[in-house]
Amino acid sequence: MKNNCVFCAIAAGEIPSFKVYEDDVVLAYLDINPFTKGHILVIPKEHTEGLLDTPDATLAAVIARVKKVAAHVKEALPCDGFNILQNNGEAAGQTVKHVHFHIVPRYGMEPIAFENHKGDMEALKALAERIHL
Ligand code: AMP
Ligand code: ZN
Repeated sequence: MKNNCVFCAIAAGEIPSFKVYEDDVVLAYLDINPFTKGHILVIPKEHTEGLLDTPDATLAAVIARVKKVAAHVKEALPCDGFNILQNNGEAAGQTVKHVHFHIVPRYGMEPIAFENHKGDMEALKALAERIHL
């Protein structure tokens, strides 16, 4: 596996994902163990570990895609708000060492614990097909 990295393998199509958006720079797909319904990860296709080793030009391109995907899913889900989360280092809860931005949809005033919940693969598949850009 390239860079021994699961997200590189997803970007290369070697591991399946519930894709919602793709272009030349990024891939966006559903988190398989979502915090909330519609939890999406946006990754640059190029491997870097976190915020600090990612070139500014890549970050600028990726955040523009995060905005585009978030704007779409807010209407398509729909949700009432969303959090953008980006973890750096184990101490910050980073488990996959390929830089990624979480889009975490929020519903009403419901509080959440920012914890993973085991995903239902059939439901994720159906949701990805419904909200794909
Ligand atoms: P972080 O804690 O910021 O490193 O987040 C990594 C996220 O990736 C977690 O929320 C995992 O549920 C998610 N994840 C891990 N493997 C996969 C995968 N194969 N497809 C989709 N999401 C994944
Ligand atoms: Zn990678």
